[in-house]
Amino acid sequence: LFVSFEGVDGVGKTTQVERLRQYLESRGRTVLVTREPGGTPLGATLRRLLLRNVAEDAADIAPRAEALIFAADRAQHVAETIRPALARGEVVITDRYLDSSLAYQAGGRELTAKEIRDLSMWATNGLLPARTYLLDMDPAASHARLQHDEDRMESAGDDFQNRTRRAFLDLAADEPDRFRVIDAAQTVETVWERIREDIDRLIDG
Ligand code: C5P
Ligand code: MG
Repeated sequence: LFVSFEGVDGVGKTTQVERLRQYLESRGRTVLVTREPGGTPLGATLRRLLLRNVAEDAADIAPRAEALIFAADRAQHVAETIRPALARGEVVITDRYLDSSLAYQAGGRELTAKEIRDLSMWATNGLLPARTYLLDMDPAASHARLQHDEDRMESAGDDFQNRTRRAFLDLAADEPDRFRVIDAAQTVETVWERIREDIDRLIDG
């Protein structure tokens, strides 16, 4: 079983990923938790490239170069981590996957969704999650929750964040069988309850 979590920064993806891991382990599953960008050693190097803080005054990464770096991260992630774990029969939960690229690199910047989707499907050899939880909330509110210093992406501004949120919602509307959209402004407990109900149905049929 392959599950991804998506949403703008600060919506609580990491918290819910951890809840789901604990829950599935308590049900006897072996669970691999991972994330993008940076789920592999190569990915960690690529992540550092991508997230250089603006304060470092690093040269801008061109949109096509950025899309390719995310795709390279994902290709390595699938080949080295995700596919082997799935082949061992494990549950894989990833904090972000290709929908983040569709929302951020296509939704927010100048590339088309088709270009990004084709690139990602090539990079992953067509691997899609069985379930994607989109944690949705107003980016202004989720942003305020972030505890750490902003990285290059997070400081990209309100318009960008709002376009990204909208792009995620459009993706979910296009693939209602794969996506579950959850209002992430609710309490952690309520968000988790919705995920637990859904994952029970998914596993037990
Ligand atoms: O979720 P995480 O903090 O690991 O994501 C790192 C940053 O990269 C975030 O600020 C997110 O907005 C950005 N990102 C992106 N395109 C992706 C994945 C993440 O712009 N495909
Ligand atoms: Mg972040």
